[in-house]
Amino acid sequence: ALAMSEERFRNLVDKSRDALALVDTAGNISWMSTAITHILGWEPEDLVGTSAFSLVHPEDLVDGLVRAATAFELGTPQDPMTLRLAKPTGEFAPVEIAVASLRDSVGQVESAVVSLRDVSWRVHAEEALLRSERRFRALVQHSIDAVLVIDAAASIQYASPAIEHVWGRPTADLVGSSGTEYIHPNDREGLMASLAHVFVTPGSSGRTEARGLDADGRWRWLEIEATNLLADDAVNGIVIHVRDVTERREAERDNKRLIDIFEATNDLVGISDRQGEPVYLNASARRFFGLGERGPIEGFNLGECFPPSVLELFSSEIRPRLEREGMWSGELSVARFDGELVPVLGQLLVHRDSEHNRVLISGVLHDIRKRKEFESALAHQATHDPLTGLPNRSLLLDRLDVALARAKRHRLRVAVLFLDLDHFKVVNDSLGHDLGDRLLEMIAQRLLTALRPGDTVARFGGDEFVVLCQDMHTRSDAFAIADRVIASVSGPFVVDEAEVFIGASVGVAFPDDPDADPGTLIRDADAAMYRAKERGRGRWEIFDNELRVSAVDRLDIENALRRALDRRELRVYFQPIVDLERGGIGAVEALLRWEHGERGLLLPGEFINVAEATGLIVPIGMWVLDQACRQVQRWQASIPDLSGLVVSVNLSGRQLGHPRLVEDVRAVLSDTGLAPERLELEITESVLMDDVAMSAEMLGRLNALGVRIAVDDFGTGYSSMSYLRRFPVDVLKVDREFVNGLGTDASDSAIVTAIITLAHALGLSAVAEGVETTAQLDELRSLGCDKAQGFLIARPASGDDISELLSMPPVW
Ligand code: C2E
Ligand code: CA
Ligand code: CA
Repeated sequence: ALAMSEERFRNLVDKSRDALALVDTAGNISWMSTAITHILGWEPEDLVGTSAFSLVHPEDLVDGLVRAATAFELGTPQDPMTLRLAKPTGEFAPVEIAVASLRDSVGQVESAVVSLRDVSWRVHAEEALLRSERRFRALVQHSIDAVLVIDAAASIQYASPAIEHVWGRPTADLVGSSGTEYIHPNDREGLMASLAHVFVTPGSSGRTEARGLDADGRWRWLEIEATNLLADDAVNGIVIHVRDVTERREAERDNKRLIDIFEATNDLVGISDRQGEPVYLNASARRFFGLGERGPIEGFNLGECFPPSVLELFSSEIRPRLEREGMWSGELSVARFDGELVPVLGQLLVHRDSEHNRVLISGVLHDIRKRKEFESALAHQATHDPLTGLPNRSLLLDRLDVALARAKRHRLRVAVLFLDLDHFKVVNDSLGHDLGDRLLEMIAQRLLTALRPGDTVARFGGDEFVVLCQDMHTRSDAFAIADRVIASVSGPFVVDEAEVFIGASVGVAFPDDPDADPGTLIRDADAAMYRAKERGRGRWEIFDNELRVSAVDRLDIENALRRALDRRELRVYFQPIVDLERGGIGAVEALLRWEHGERGLLLPGEFINVAEATGLIVPIGMWVLDQACRQVQRWQASIPDLSGLVVSVNLSGRQLGHPRLVEDVRAVLSDTGLAPERLELEITESVLMDDVAMSAEMLGRLNALGVRIAVDDFGTGYSSMSYLRRFPVDVLKVDREFVNGLGTDASDSAIVTAIITLAHALGLSAVAEGVETTAQLDELRSLGCDKAQGFLIARPASGDDISELLSMPPVW
């Protein structure tokens, strides 16, 4: 029975997966079960007799010895422990060891029973676990998102290294605290509020954003996502993911600012997709298109907001440009909700994705109604006369250009009428400028009503108007219009309750040349108008061949006159003026002559107006003055008793208006040494009346020099008493026309009488011009006229020829 029992136990031990060993108090193995073979690979006989401790891994040895000692000492069963034991191959395998002591009959510890269990599987599993834990840890640690684990008391237990670049501070700053001290004070409450429920609800999560202070003292926007895993044994905490969203926040902020600007601007801002569907319209655009402040905009058709001309522009210019250059800017018009077409300055931009596909088009439209109005006002101003609102010179020239081209195409003709009011200056000066302006406005109105709607009336300058008539056939058409124009301005005008009569002289240009040039046509009409003035005013003349020839002559004369001074072709002739009381020559009038190479001696009538028009009269006039003064000095040196001789020199309007006139006269006087009172300057009445203020000023300055002043051609220029009194004049020269009719024409006689009387009443002396008969001379003498000149006394002649007359005793 004993043997059987022993056999059974042996089997039991041998079949057991655990191995059993007996170890004596010296640590030597006295017996070993066979199971050790599959645990470590040893045969039991290999081990029996060897020290159990020789199998233990050196690092585990101390543990093993301590455990064994306590087991022997206390004799109580110990918790199993895992030791690494050597295999025959030299490797170590983990083995769970449990030690129990065996005592002898007296209770002395005799040996120890050691059970060995193969736990290599368990170690492998633990290693796998460890590895996976390490892997997760590594994942967490290397994650770009930072992870914090906080406990139920809101204290941070773990912070992944990523926190250092996400939050910008070392993990050590955070672990152990709640971290809120690094949260922006303004964000703390919000943070707590939005995460509060996460803390109390296992399994829940929440998300918020707050600013965190980094180690450099800057605030970073952090996205904080918390998940309550307190109930999860593996974590036992609240896991928080932290992400740096500063850039996104800034981008959002910038974006919002831009949107705010778009919303606030008065410009229309819109974004549409490539199909033209709007995806964004700012507040102004919504208002403009009559859409609600908010409301949806999809389905709104932008294409319907542009007129056909703009749609055409889209396909012909805008779209190709957008494809090519990605942007377009220019002027458009767009329809407002109420249908009004508003001009805008548009700026279109293509937005492409990374593959360079066109995805969106944005547009900014700036309302330019104001500018357009301003521009058209400016354009109107630039092309119209501000007083009458009529087209001005430049617009007329444009229209004339167009009209001529049209006339040529349709084989029709145009007429250009140059109209100059007669004596407007006098009316203007006596009524005052304001009423003069009113009169001009009325005249403009009358001209407009006298003409057809297609005709153009332009104001050319002070009292000059030009009329352009189209679709004319014959000269008589043009003449009829000229008659109508003259008649229209000839009736009385009621200005400020006063009736004013005015007239006009008109020159007509009616070219048969289809290629006529606008400038030339106006000049021709102007020349014809001058002839109308010459021929008695209040009438029209047409520019014809005769005028054309004289226009050509003019050009020749102008060119020759420019060289006449240098070529010494000019002469100064003198005509004596007799003092009717003494009967002797008291003065001479200097009269210009031109010894023309081809045409012989020319009278001023043939060239003086050219000299005027070109301004050549200024140097020529000074030359005449100089010559005249020198001649008087020469006579005085050779002829006795000439100390009182006065020389009269004619001044043209151009000279009177010249700023250097007074200095030049003074210079000639001092150069020639002639006393100022020996010089008389003759200025025609019409020149004086042309610009009364300027005349008064110049006469005043000349008078201050000490020279005498005569009003030439008196009686033809409509001056009034009040002007004469204002001008410092000394002499009135009765125009030849009146002297001519003296004694034969009653009205001429009356005028001459009146002028002489007027002169004396003003303390001036009267000189009669153009005396050709003794009857005239006698009549003048009896009227008390002071002086006389004329062919009866002497024709103008050279200084040498006059010398003889000057040395004669008084005979008249
Ligand atoms: P004016 O100042 O009225 O000069 C008088 C004109 O009458 C002169 O013509 C003279 O020759 C002419 N005359 C004199 N007595 C008689 C007469 O009995 N019968 C007729 N039928 N004519 C007479 P002239 O020399 O041809 O000069 C014409 C005009 O040219 C002058 O008219 C004057 O306005 C202008 N003129 C002449 N010389 C100058 C000058 O040096 N400077 C300027 N600015 N104008 C000048
Ligand atoms: Ca004169
Ligand atoms: Ca005269």
